[in-house]
Parts: sequence; structure tokens; C-alpha cells
Amino acid sequence: MIYIRRIILPILAALLTLLPAACTANSNASSGTSDPEESQESGNASPFSADSAFAFLKRQVDFGPRVPNTAAHRATAEWLEHKLRQYCDTVIVTRFSPLTFDNVRLDARNIFAQINPEASDRTLLLAHWDTRPWADHDDDPALRRTPVEGANDGASGVAVILELARALHASGFKGGVDILFVDAEDWGDEGDDSSWALGAQHFAQHPPLTAYAPKEAILLDMVGGKGATFTREYFSQQSNPALNQRIWQTAAQSGYGDIFTDRVETAVTDDHVPLIQAGIPAVDIIDYRAGEGFAPTWHTTQDNIDNIDIRTLEAVGNVVFKVLTQ
Ligand SMILES: [Zn+2]
Repeated sequence: MIYIRRIILPILAALLTLLPAACTANSNASSGTSDPEESQESGNASPFSADSAFAFLKRQVDFGPRVPNTAAHRATAEWLEHKLRQYCDTVIVTRFSPLTFDNVRLDARNIFAQINPEASDRTLLLAHWDTRPWADHDDDPALRRTPVEGANDGASGVAVILELARALHASGFKGGVDILFVDAEDWGDEGDDSSWALGAQHFAQHPPLTAYAPKEAILLDMVGGKGATFTREYFSQQSNPALNQRIWQTAAQSGYGDIFTDRVETAVTDDHVPLIQAGIPAVDIIDYRAGEGFAPTWHTTQDNIDNIDIRTLEAVGNVVFKVLTQ
């Protein structure tokens, strides 16, 4: 994802007009079976296990960079579908073929799942599962064509959501939660907003269920970095201030007020924007540090597992678990 300077924010806010929701389905649904892999409780008091989330993160990184049109990307998609079938009631994989800004046709997949699909009041949790093909912000110019490992930018959000699914499943949760792992978020050009979040754009234009209308959506992006700070993102605050309030209030009450800084910061072009445009009130929990920007590892070869802090995963996971279950 990229950030947008404040000076053009009023124009962008005006562009967030509603689009009609189109409906097509690519269905491939079934119930899951249990598998003990990565599923052990850590023994702490919260149903959300940060150790399990970290294991889910490492598993993704171990596949290699999840760049579309690579073997690692395809293998990761199979694994994500397998894991969601364990913890969710239905899984729908949508394959699509977006064209990137540099004219590459991608073999892309959005992976969508539902917990308690009969519940009418639904929250959508989403994260992108692809990684950026180039570390174009690396300090070393020689490394700027190297793929990003994406331990934080990609794997962290997916890992926290997988662990939330496991914890909700294990705790007998009765509410309505949907999960969306979007593809092709990070093959973008910083001069072209529409070149990012291609999977979220596809989902918004072709939702996998007829008349799909969750009450809210929470996007997790870069939720595992060392020294992370989560400020309220501008488009999120415009779209769903009440949900932002619940998240930051829950964080403060849970002892995470140092990580969740309660102030509105910059606008970010990310997967929540196409959802907002399609009428789904959405917020982005993203590591954006006042006066600094994204984590220093952002779009560099340093976005690796050594720069992940399990306490960041724990803070975000516990806060979202409470927001969903309280
Ligand atoms: Zn990125």
C-alpha cells in the first residue's frame, strides 16, 4: 500500500462515491476438518494465541515471497484454503486475472470464508496475502528489484486473522464473521492509486455471495512490526468512526494504549478503499507512525521474520478478538 499526502485528501474524500454492487459467484464451498497443526493453545488467558499467530506467519514466510505467478504463491493459496476449511464453515476461492500497471496478467485468487453463515449481523476481516515483487524502498539500490519477503507486509495480517478464526472456532463463537484474503494488493505503482488493491477491487465489484452486505469490515495490514504504532487512518475515520472508536477504546482498556495511539493520521490507499466505495463501512488497522510513516522495513529486504515482534501480533489479535466478542 501507499500513503497519500494530506494536501489532496479533500479531493480523495469526494471521490469515495458509492458504486453499485455487482453479483457473481465462483463457488467451491465445503466444511472443514480438524488438524492439530499450529492449533495448540498457548496456555495464556486469552483465547487468541500470539504463539499460534507467529507460527502462521512463519509458515507463510517459509513458502518464500508470495509474488503472483510464482510457485510459492500457488502453494500458499492451497495452504490458506486448507487452513480456512479447518476453522470456518464455508470457503469460496475466486480466481481472476487482473492486468497490472506494467501489463502483466496475474493468476490471482481471493480466498473468502464464513463462520456461522446463518448469522445476519456480520463483520468482515481481511488482509492481503500477496507480497510485493520489488523491494523498491530498500536502502541498497542493488536490492530494489529483489522480491519482498513480506513477514509484516502481507503475512502478519493473514496470520492474525487465521489465529482469530482458530480461536473463535475453538471458543464456540456464535456470531457472524467473514474472512477475506485478498490477492494482488502490492503490485502497484506509486503514481497510480488504482494500480493497488486489485484483489479488493475485484471482490467489491464481484462479491462471492448475492447481496453480500456485512455491517462492517476490519482490514489488518502490517500488524507485526517491531515498534509498531497504530494511528487512526483517514479514510477509515471518514467511513466508520464508531468502529474506529470501539477499536481504539478497547485497546486502551486492554493496556495497549501505547501501541494504539488515538489520533487520526494520514490517508492510505489500501484494501479497505474499494470496500468503502462499494458501501461497506471499513477501517484499516495499519502501522503508521506519526512523523515517521510506515515501518522502516516497508518495501525493503528487511521486511523479514527478524523484524517481527510477537507482542505486536498479540496486541492486535487480542483487541480484534474483544471487538468481535464483546
Ligand atoms: Zn506493501
